[in-house]
Amino acid sequence: MGLVVLKFGGTSVIDAAAMSRVVRIVSHARVEGGPVVVVVSAMAGVTDALLHACEAARAGTIDDAEARLAAVEARHRAVIDTLFPSSVRSQDVWREVSREHDDLRAVLKSVAVLRELTPRALDRVAAAGELMSSRIVAALLRATGQPVRWADPRRVIVTDDSFGGAQPLGEATRRAASRELRPAIAAGEIAVLGGFVGATADGITTTLGRGGSDFSAAIVGAALDAAEIQIWTDVDGMLTADPRVVPGAQPVSRLSFDEASELAYFGAKVLHPSTILPAVAQSIPVRILNTLRPDRPGSVITAEGPRDGRPLTAIACKRNVTVVNVTSTRMLLAHGFLRRVFEVFGRHATSVDVVTTSEVSVSMTLDDDRRIDAIERDLSLFATVQVERGMAIVSAVGDNLRADPALAVSIIAALGRLPLRMVSQAASRRNVTVVLDDADVPAAMGRLHAEFFAAVEATR
Ligand code: ASP
Ligand code: MG
Repeated sequence: MGLVVLKFGGTSVIDAAAMSRVVRIVSHARVEGGPVVVVVSAMAGVTDALLHACEAARAGTIDDAEARLAAVEARHRAVIDTLFPSSVRSQDVWREVSREHDDLRAVLKSVAVLRELTPRALDRVAAAGELMSSRIVAALLRATGQPVRWADPRRVIVTDDSFGGAQPLGEATRRAASRELRPAIAAGEIAVLGGFVGATADGITTTLGRGGSDFSAAIVGAALDAAEIQIWTDVDGMLTADPRVVPGAQPVSRLSFDEASELAYFGAKVLHPSTILPAVAQSIPVRILNTLRPDRPGSVITAEGPRDGRPLTAIACKRNVTVVNVTSTRMLLAHGFLRRVFEVFGRHATSVDVVTTSEVSVSMTLDDDRRIDAIERDLSLFATVQVERGMAIVSAVGDNLRADPALAVSIIAALGRLPLRMVSQAASRRNVTVVLDDADVPAAMGRLHAEFFAAVEATR
């Protein structure tokens, strides 16, 4: 197997025990196959703590900021003391990590003095979590006797200057990643770097946005033409259904990027599909794996889905959404009705999810209905409005819906006599979506799962 990028999320490096698991997984991957590059998140909770420290400094409460920083420092210190019994080694690691803290203290002090928090300063502070966790993981791997090179992500990922959500510059990053990482790979070393962090061409620290370590793994994997990217997290992968609703839910072994994107809306919090686009664009498979159960096969996301004949990939639900039914009164056959309707939602910054229409009416679902009173008032100026709370969206997702026209019929049939408020199949024909009473969700999901995933459940 060619180069594999392994990315470990915040919960996978949350404490000393978790970091030891990471080392076991990386060592195993190295024995099994070819070269590996390791990308790590900050220890869970550290990025939040650093951002809070910035806010405290901006408010001028430097004591509060320093107390928060001290708590972060203590967490790293405790992990280092647990992981490195030899005091010589722990001193070395601690020196690198505490240098990072000294830099942070200086930035926070200047923020407190100026009472101004620039996006640039914020990114410099936020980046520290990954810079520290990656140093500890690198040192721990080195302590097992393996050759390791810690890499500074600011020399690897070149971004624009949109601080807080920087975008990678493809060609520059490809060159930088090759320059920084290929020599280590060629020398048989494990390259370790923090995720989430990059720098502008001038070397100013940037971050890629919250949860950005997945993005880092995809960017680095794409830049190095990796054979596979592994996202190590705390679940077994993408599931056939929400296990709280369908106890027999199982991991989906393979799915397409488009299917993963459809499922992302339903809070499949495993990963945000847009973050793996750089990998998918180069047809590099992305595998989701569980740090706590490393022997599980996980889910593989590929540009093209599998052609394995299974009817559906997953079913998903979003509970407690609000349905807005808008009926045109005077506007039958008049143009501009939908424009006026959507303008109202746009004005109130509320996004609409499922939409169905007829000539005289349109129904929409909202999962954020905080502005509903104002929306209802504005719509009532030109239409009759009815709002229904406590509804839910159930969606059957699968690329095979495109190929098999009868599948949509079986989906609706499986729902039996459950009253459906809306039914929709969009142009992508990758999902059939229904809106029904929230109370009917367990029945709807249970019936669909039994109908389309019974074989999966039976092989358990
Ligand atoms: N540490 C960053 C965050 O908490 C990035 C990441 O974990 O992916 O958002
Ligand atoms: Mg994450």
